[in-house]
Amino acid sequence: MDACVQPGLLPVHDAIARIIAALEPTTATETVSLFDGLDRVLAENIIAPINVPGADNSAMDGYAVRLQDGGDELTLIGESFAGHAFSGDIRAGQTIRIMTGGLIPAGADTVVMQENVTRRGDSIRINKLPDVGENIRRAGEDIAVQSLVLSKGHLLTAVDIGLLASLGIHQLRVFQRIKIALLTTGDELLAPGDVYQPGKIYDSNRPLLHALLKRLPVDVKDFGIVPDNPEALRKVFLSAREYADLVISTGGVSVGDADYTKEILSELGEVNFWKIAMKPGKPFAFGLLGNSLAEKTRATKCWFCGLPGNPVSTAVTYHQLVVPAVRYLAGENPVEPIVIKAVAAKPLKKQPGRMDFQRGIFSIIDGVNSVSSAGLQSSGVLSGMGKANCYIRLEAGRSSVAAGESVDVILFDRFIR
Ligand code: AMP
Ligand code: MG
Repeated sequence: MDACVQPGLLPVHDAIARIIAALEPTTATETVSLFDGLDRVLAENIIAPINVPGADNSAMDGYAVRLQDGGDELTLIGESFAGHAFSGDIRAGQTIRIMTGGLIPAGADTVVMQENVTRRGDSIRINKLPDVGENIRRAGEDIAVQSLVLSKGHLLTAVDIGLLASLGIHQLRVFQRIKIALLTTGDELLAPGDVYQPGKIYDSNRPLLHALLKRLPVDVKDFGIVPDNPEALRKVFLSAREYADLVISTGGVSVGDADYTKEILSELGEVNFWKIAMKPGKPFAFGLLGNSLAEKTRATKCWFCGLPGNPVSTAVTYHQLVVPAVRYLAGENPVEPIVIKAVAAKPLKKQPGRMDFQRGIFSIIDGVNSVSSAGLQSSGVLSGMGKANCYIRLEAGRSSVAAGESVDVILFDRFIR
């Protein structure tokens, strides 16, 4: 595939690999309440301290019976409700009323659904015999005691929180949040709330990245809009690296602009300016903005990602390059994107040489995975990205796609929505 990349450009996969190879994941941990565990990265393996469920219990409202001894005319001798077990045991010819979650009494081997019995006073007649063992949830069937439930490096979901709660776990060891300094550069930028001025544009990248970063285990400090002037940039980079594990900036990395950003960054650290074989988002800067500084409370390195200024380029390079970088820094185990195949519903324009991340709309039409362009593909047009629900990822060597051809699709995940 690399042979198809325009000479002088870095393939997307190589860019990601270089970033990951350079970064050093955090080792700092903290203990949080289970209630604060969502979207945090586990810093410990979770081994089940108990069986879940803890004991055999009923999956249905019905009657617990001893089916192995036969008989379909039974005498009711008690009840077992969730949280209120029946203390005796069941012999042949006997049954108890049992509700979902009620413990299976000693001697019983099956639960008969209440719909399948006729009850007259204390006598129960089974109309439809189940198989032995039916309608019982076995101890440890969900999670067996001593089994590995979740691994170190796992990003916790809401379902995980429920799962951990079912094990009686109420505190978790997680990695500390990564500290991110966010800034945008450009003399043309207006902050949200500024009065509109002709010739200027509102800074959309900073609010966009601010919102996207809420999906990641990070603390963000906003360093605002920085004018295109070397002194202002130097000053802000110096204070940003005092705070951050990672500085993210947008703008000022394309040819022309890059010259003095480059100069300042090479003075402060070792930042490389790459031309990545991706569209949108060719220019990208990555590297070290300096080592641990006296002012920093934590002796960690400070990394730098400089994203191109066009909002779609910002969003796509953020998603493709910065999200994996932050997740790795934050201690998460690598996760590969899920790529699915779809048929292009309409032709798609493409020049060979770079990997395209076109914004698309995926749907299933008559059982067939289909995708079409979400509209204008210019890197400045954020409205098209707003309508999209996926990337149409086209390999570097590929040229325009005809309707009916198969393409790779990556559905937008929560990190880009
Ligand atoms: P640059 O990467 O600085 O050369 O900017 C490329 C294009 O993106 C220019 O048209 C900029 O005006 C625009 N741009 C840069 N930063 C932002 C921003 N924060 N919000 C919206 N557009 C931007
Ligand atoms: Mg600029």
